[in-house]
Amino acid sequence: MPDTPFEVEVVRRDFPILATQVREKKLCYLDNAASTQKPRAVIDRLQEFYSRENANIHRGVHHLGELATDAYHDARKTVAKFLNAKSDKQVIFTRGTTESINLVATSWGRANLQKGDQILLTAMEHHANIVPWQLIAEQTGAVIKVIPTNDRAELDLDAYDQLLGEHTRILAICHISNSLGTLNPIKEIIAKAKAMGVTTLVDGAQGAPHLGADVQDLNCDFYAFSGHKIYGPTGIGILYGNQEIMENMPPYQGGGDMIQRVSFEKTTYKGLPERFEAGTPNIAGAAGLAAAIKYLGQFNQADIKAHESALLEYALGQLEDIDGITLYTKAVARTGVVSFNLEGVHAHDIATILDREGVAIRAGNHCTQPLMKTLGVPATARTSFALYNTKEEIDTLAASIIKARQLFK
Ligand code: PMP
Repeated sequence: MPDTPFEVEVVRRDFPILATQVREKKLCYLDNAASTQKPRAVIDRLQEFYSRENANIHRGVHHLGELATDAYHDARKTVAKFLNAKSDKQVIFTRGTTESINLVATSWGRANLQKGDQILLTAMEHHANIVPWQLIAEQTGAVIKVIPTNDRAELDLDAYDQLLGEHTRILAICHISNSLGTLNPIKEIIAKAKAMGVTTLVDGAQGAPHLGADVQDLNCDFYAFSGHKIYGPTGIGILYGNQEIMENMPPYQGGGDMIQRVSFEKTTYKGLPERFEAGTPNIAGAAGLAAAIKYLGQFNQADIKAHESALLEYALGQLEDIDGITLYTKAVARTGVVSFNLEGVHAHDIATILDREGVAIRAGNHCTQPLMKTLGVPATARTSFALYNTKEEIDTLAASIIKARQLFK
């Protein structure tokens, strides 16, 4: 049970990098949608693994091989519990959200898509949830359909009802928009798709860190997220999948660890989860991700959510009156992100000027070029929050934006 009270100043001390300075200014890290910082528990876990447990898994009968295998299996159990998956067999370790989605698009897509089938995406998807589907669409003759957004950058649910049809085979949708912070009503959206027999995938890259994910409650077939956005290491990610569907999917990659028997005449494959984990995995990364999930698990999720929502609303309030600002985060249901532009200042210049003040934000299209097109801009400046951010940091952000505006006036 979570039993640590959530106090942001105490939490900050768990993240060594937050005490560092940037250009002689206190670091104000507001680029969490791109990647989060790591608590000492994760850094220590990586060090401990490489100092005491490191070996390859499933191969050596020696002591270290057993320790590494145990660490890897335990990590899978921790992730399964975090997602409320029925079985840890449903949890596949990947390199990140991108690889998880590519795995589904390639493996599920090859087995299930034919000419004329429809793949339903939304206008706010990250390129990682667009391009893999385009690749498989080209190979199979399937067609991509897109659920549009309204002028608050929320999904147009009437259009969704119209688009969901007898040819729809898969719906792939983000939980939270990484560019704008729009929080999609994915449970209702998934229920409608499931009622039509449509397979569903949730891109949880931004959802899992802010809201967690209960895959049984969501009733999705696939859920993907990245370790590095949830306070864990880079190079590790998760694909959760419906067991029956995954058991009928062909392997994604071939190699060691995913086979039962290999001969030049015929090779047979292992079951879940090994079938989808060819080659030596990121063992330390898995252990580090488990440490991140355990770190988060000591707090009540509702406290983290309340803290992050308060930060977002405070930021919107602080920023909205700045001369020349346009805010793109307008959805009623939103979390984690504020996207904006300043009249007469390119988003990259805003980010460069803010960096001089020690404030780290992201500028660009955020790997959502189609969404930027609907907004009518090539880029935005994006500030994104994590559990360790504070209102004082938002004050610093607001002051730095005002400075940027004055410089370009
Ligand atoms: N989807 C969303 C919504 C994201 O925010 C990101 C990362 N910005 C990705 C997918 C891709 O994640 P990764 O690069 O960790 O694979």
